[in-house]
Amino acid sequence: MQKGNIGVTTENIFPVIKKFLYSDHDIFIREIVSNAVDATQKLRTLAGKGDFKGETGELKVSVDVNKENGTITVSDNGIGMTAEEIEKYINQIAFSGANDFLDKYKEDANAIIGHFGLGFYSSFMVSKKVEIVTRSYQENAKAVKWSCDGSPAYELEETEKAERGTDIIMYIDDDCKEFLEKNKIQDLLNKYCRFLPIPVVFGKKTEWKDGKQVDTEEDLVINDTTPIWTKKPSELKDEDYKDFYRKLYPMSDEPLFWIHLNVDYPFNLTGVLYFPKIKNNIDLQRNKIQLYCNQVYVTDSVEGIVPDFLTLLHGVIDSPDIPLNVSRSYLQSDSNVKKISTYITKKVSDRLQSIFKADRADFEKKWDDIKIFINYGMLTQEDFYDKAKNFALFKDCEGKYFTFEEYQTLIKDNQTNKDGNLVYLYANDREAQYSYIEAARNKGYSVLLFDGQLDTPMISMLEQKLEKSTFTRVDADVIDRLIVKEDTERTVLEAERSDKLSYVFSSQVPKAEKTEFHVETQAMGEEALPVMITQSEYMRRMKEMAHIQPGMSFYGEMPDMYTLVLNTDNKLIKEVLEDSEQQTAEALNPIEAEIKGLTARQAVLRQQQEGKKPEEIDQTQKDELAKCDTDITEQRQKKNEVLAGYAQKNPVVHQLIDLALLQNGLLKGEALNNFVKRSIELIK
Ligand code: ADP
Repeated sequence: MQKGNIGVTTENIFPVIKKFLYSDHDIFIREIVSNAVDATQKLRTLAGKGDFKGETGELKVSVDVNKENGTITVSDNGIGMTAEEIEKYINQIAFSGANDFLDKYKEDANAIIGHFGLGFYSSFMVSKKVEIVTRSYQENAKAVKWSCDGSPAYELEETEKAERGTDIIMYIDDDCKEFLEKNKIQDLLNKYCRFLPIPVVFGKKTEWKDGKQVDTEEDLVINDTTPIWTKKPSELKDEDYKDFYRKLYPMSDEPLFWIHLNVDYPFNLTGVLYFPKIKNNIDLQRNKIQLYCNQVYVTDSVEGIVPDFLTLLHGVIDSPDIPLNVSRSYLQSDSNVKKISTYITKKVSDRLQSIFKADRADFEKKWDDIKIFINYGMLTQEDFYDKAKNFALFKDCEGKYFTFEEYQTLIKDNQTNKDGNLVYLYANDREAQYSYIEAARNKGYSVLLFDGQLDTPMISMLEQKLEKSTFTRVDADVIDRLIVKEDTERTVLEAERSDKLSYVFSSQVPKAEKTEFHVETQAMGEEALPVMITQSEYMRRMKEMAHIQPGMSFYGEMPDMYTLVLNTDNKLIKEVLEDSEQQTAEALNPIEAEIKGLTARQAVLRQQQEGKKPEEIDQTQKDELAKCDTDITEQRQKKNEVLAGYAQKNPVVHQLIDLALLQNGLLKGEALNNFVKRSIELIK
């Protein structure tokens, strides 16, 4: 028997393995099984070249859990190892600069294992002792047994082994007993070994017999050795892609479509990416793409490898050219990874473009579902925007779809304002903004429906990308001012009457927290509604942005500001105005006369004091002006009280305000209740 120490330059690698790889214990199974797979594939290669003349037999790997003995055994019938090979490949571990590296990447077991070629030693993450029993494929090779109990000391001796190949026997540590559960290993095999290229056997298939599960004679092979991404697209049918998708995501709806990736120059990459059907935002997950390296599962976090917006897709990517033994931050600067990312982006946009071209109707049908991915891509990736702008769609409120270019042509004639800007009108909510949409339609305008999550940032971006274009929500202003085509003269109410009318209404708007109303008058035509509520595009957008961008919380704190527009052409408003003037005349006449007098006096006093320094003005004169100011304020208050008193008693004012609020979903609680009661009173 030979004894010796494992050739490491640090004292002892096992504590290191245990300590630093703690978080990722699971991967030992991947490492040991994929070593076994490698060994069988090497044998196949040797046989192919004529260097191995014996029978390869049916190449396979088996995994056995023996709870009684406390072992997991991974066996293969691959090339095996001679004593010399064990010495060379297992005992000598290059281990330089270890401490620096470990410090840097202690969170990342993949990086550590890859860096040191420590695959085999990952078995010590879960084992107190590991044995290798192996016999090389070489003629007359003697079987050997290597064993090591987690100290740098190992033992190597000759042994008996009938068949060619290797058994790795892991004596599971007491604190890792969960790995002796069949289900646990089943799960791990499913995760890491599901698509390995050589059959992996885990016990026998079972069947129901006499009311219980019993083993059959047949091996249970847990993997699919030729998953679809290893095949040529020409060999596959739609059903194959769908089947594979169902296998990967049994709970998901059928995918919208897929993209088969297949390159071998300048890097190797295969895979299939699926556009999932998303039912709600909760489904948006970034860990649905699985990354493989030669069919060995590596990770489901592909950030840094796949362009950000495509991490929302589902599917698999397999590439031996993605450097996995480096940190994530390093990945982004790797030139291969950059090329891969660019390639995937291009593939995705080409595929979308070709579906769009080949079957526009189908593309439109899927648009609502894929919109979020495409918008996200356009927002975050310039090169994707440049391609996507040709197939990205706008949807109008009637459900018709247009490309950006088609839409421009459609609205050019009717929706260009006096400054030559194209005005895109949109609604977020077809129901809530119904009356505004109707008004715009009656005017011959087209209204887009922007009800997606990314529409707000999309609008900002499009305003920059599309020349001379602005986007305006249909309720941003009254219809005549939405798209101002020429500076028209309007018949406006004289200022004083307008002020009175405005006050009659503003005094009666129900108070709501964080909501402010500004009332103004406007001649909007006899047919238009008496009262409209609009919300400035600018303020609304600032508030919306505040939700997404933390730096703008100032806007988030601002109240919602609306404008209540009174249509002075409307019969009801005219009646309120005339009635209010009649009803309040008696009370207001003396007040107004008083205000007139005071204002005249104020003007005189101001003139006298104009241009003088405060010390040059006589104190009595100062006092008189100050008194004049307060008197005017007082009289105005009185006037407002009279108007409010009138308004308070006029149910039409309340009814008109409430109807406008109701139409905008702003009538709530007590105010809504009052409205209902008042309405009933009015019909009685
Ligand atoms: P890596 O696989 O990265 O080279 P490992 O520590 O996993 O590092 O394995 C070291 C070497 O041990 C392998 O390269 C291989 O030559 C040998 N080896 C490991 N497992 C087996 C096996 N089941 N059969 C034959 N050789 C093996």
